[in-house]
Amino acid sequence: MRYRIALIRGDGIGPEQAEATLLVLSKLEELLGLELEVVDAEAGDGCMKKTGTPLPDETIRILKDSHACLKGPVGETAADVIVRLRQMFDLYANVRPARSLPNVPALKPNIDLVIVRENTEDLYKGYEWEFDGVAIGIRLITRRGCERVARYAFELARRRRRRVVAVHKANVMRITCGLFARTCREVSKDYPDVAYSEMYVDAAAMDLIRRPEQFDVIVTTNVFGDILSDESAQVVGGLGLAPAANIGDEYAIFEPVHGCAPDIAGKGIANPISMILSAAMMLEWLAARYSDARCLEASKLVNEAVVRTLEEGKVLTPDLGGRAKTIELGARIAGMMEEIRRA
Ligand code: ATP
Repeated sequence: MRYRIALIRGDGIGPEQAEATLLVLSKLEELLGLELEVVDAEAGDGCMKKTGTPLPDETIRILKDSHACLKGPVGETAADVIVRLRQMFDLYANVRPARSLPNVPALKPNIDLVIVRENTEDLYKGYEWEFDGVAIGIRLITRRGCERVARYAFELARRRRRRVVAVHKANVMRITCGLFARTCREVSKDYPDVAYSEMYVDAAAMDLIRRPEQFDVIVTTNVFGDILSDESAQVVGGLGLAPAANIGDEYAIFEPVHGCAPDIAGKGIANPISMILSAAMMLEWLAARYSDARCLEASKLVNEAVVRTLEEGKVLTPDLGGRAKTIELGARIAGMMEEIRRA
């Protein structure tokens, strides 16, 4: 099968990371005969300057006409791009894995967790008003929103170590977090083979530092998940390695967790691994969506090549203690894929 991938290169370090990721994708075509048609779609601050809008209709059309989207970070207009796309395509689960990688200093060894964050509701819905020095924001939580993200988390746990912890603050936000906790508890009854527990968000933030290796799948609401996933990315060695997926029933967008890093943009030194691992997540999603074993093989190959490249430790960007450029690390990962296949 031939897949059409919409590519939003984004702002800041995004285009640099995209170039490195494209090396990996074309190597997959060469090694595995995967057919990927990458179609550029513009969005973000640069696009706003050029066209007057951060998310043109043409971009939406390209995404609607594609199998999946790979997206670089965007700058100031992030809310106008990704938050809108999440709502538009109903991408209700934001999946953010954090795992220990070789030669990357982490707080603890053997961390392998995934945060599944509800992606369309909560305070990020943007229902906010201000009158006479009083600001009000609405925290919108629905049973449907809670149930579908909870099911996603339990299904994921079944393919992992079979543990789900629901993170909330239902002792204070009794109605909104109460609905989330109650729904997760109900869904857990359909998964007797998965161990289920609950934790308050402040305790979870502490335990992500104190004993991160104990977590498997964390399911939580939008704002808590946003904050906890930046924390978990740092716990395993930094944002430059952190991939993410925005998943719906019909479509999905894959992107690094981090922003466009204006402090290092244009220098060609950003770590491309966050975007390369996002591409690996995309291949895994395509494999499941279209029952395509070749995509699964491709995803595994990319993951293994990243691990081996880090193990080798010869070509590393400055955030990993090396001196390599973004494109050089991308090329080394592509080369490693070839070595693995030939072995
Ligand atoms: P946002 O608010 O849009 O999430 P931010 O201003 O919080 O963005 P980021 O752009 O995420 O910040 O960057 C935070 C820090 O992490 C910066 O110092 C940046 O250089 C660094 N960083 C982010 N991504 C990478 C990467 N891929 N490689 C190396 N360093 C990175």
